[in-house]
Amino acid sequence: MYDFAVVGVGPAGARFARRAAAAGYDVVAFEQGTVGTPLACSGHVSTDIWAYVPDDAKQKLLQNRVYGARFHVGGPDSSSYPFYKREEISNVIDRVELDRTLADCARDAGADVHEHHTVVDVDERHDAVELTVSNADGTETVEAKMVAGCDGPTSRVRRQVGLPEPEELLHGVLAFDPDPDDGDFVDVHLTAPRFFAWRIPRGDAGVEYGLAAPPGESVNDLFDRLTDAYDVETEHFCSGGIPIGPPERVHSRRVFLIGDAAAQTKPFTGGGILYGMTAADCAADAVDPDDPATLRDYESAWRSELSREIAFGHWLRRAYSLPEPVQRLGLRALSGEIGVHMDRPTSFFSREHLGKLLGR
Ligand SMILES: Cc1cc2nc3c(=O)[nH]c(=O)nc-3n(C[C@H](O)[C@H](O)[C@H](O)COP(=O)(O)OP(=O)(O)OC[C@H]3O[C@@H](n4cnc5c(N)ncnc54)[C@H](O)[C@@H]3O)c2cc1C
Repeated sequence: MYDFAVVGVGPAGARFARRAAAAGYDVVAFEQGTVGTPLACSGHVSTDIWAYVPDDAKQKLLQNRVYGARFHVGGPDSSSYPFYKREEISNVIDRVELDRTLADCARDAGADVHEHHTVVDVDERHDAVELTVSNADGTETVEAKMVAGCDGPTSRVRRQVGLPEPEELLHGVLAFDPDPDDGDFVDVHLTAPRFFAWRIPRGDAGVEYGLAAPPGESVNDLFDRLTDAYDVETEHFCSGGIPIGPPERVHSRRVFLIGDAAAQTKPFTGGGILYGMTAADCAADAVDPDDPATLRDYESAWRSELSREIAFGHWLRRAYSLPEPVQRLGLRALSGEIGVHMDRPTSFFSREHLGKLLGR
């Protein structure tokens, strides 16, 4: 019997598998497809990402350095409100290659990583968890003392053990214009209902256009409007779910969720790569596969690490739904050089920013 079985080898699953294997546990991880595919992510992350990959990976992964964001209340022709720093705020990275790199780290640490293996059933018993796993050769059962459900926004593991769903599931889409652009700014358009549309320069990999919106909105029509306004033709259209708002509990007796499966994302951007890996580290530090009570320690550790940031992220997101004149006033008051960290919305609520808003 394995100590841990990990379902899904995205950033959260790969990171947990790596850390648990490095701690000496017997770890197996299953990925339903080829690691990193299909792509459904911008790979726009804070520079904290480099702490999670080997030093020599940066050269392969880095596509562009970003120094700020231009906010627009309307389309590309509307006035823009720049927020920037002198040093780089964030990086645009090759997301497919990131996942491959993280999976290799898990393998190097001793985890047994299987691609093209889909977990189709999860049977949680008092003393162990039995997974039914299907691959090209048929179906097998695997036993583990504990299971980490790292299987993304529509997590099967979550559903099968009856854990609650995230508060919301947005629909995100993106596509690329292949013309190279190593610009310093991303553009953010507050034109998608309750969220935003974006343009991200990706260096030699071209320019990405994307947006996300709540269910019921026609994201394809909104996307066409965005690319028409920029007058660009795009290719490699991709689409994915963005869970927002973690449920009240992300563990059962022997199963725990990490990453998008637990909606450990930033409500104001939908970004979940770094929050998922932060939570994976909390799990690796806290969970002992022989002691189900330690799952409560994981639950409190990741909440103490991320809950406050997630709560502030919800507040920031509310600004996307304010009336346009109020948005313009706020953006005008706050724009300029900023001292914020993109993963820590609490840093947006500094004395300095409050002073700017109040005109002091
Ligand atoms: C349009 C869009 C843009 C985004 N842009 C950004 C961004 O710029 N920055 C950022 O930080 N985040 C971004 N995100 C969010 C980011 O992609 C996720 O937060 C991140 O991928 C979560 O990692 P994860 O490991 O939890 O889940 P995932 O990356 O979804 O990995 C889950 C894995 O589980 C596998 N799986 C699922 N079910 C099974 C099963 N039954 N058996 C075996 N394997 C299974 C899947 O194939 C997948 O590989 C974006 C999301 C979208 C949709």
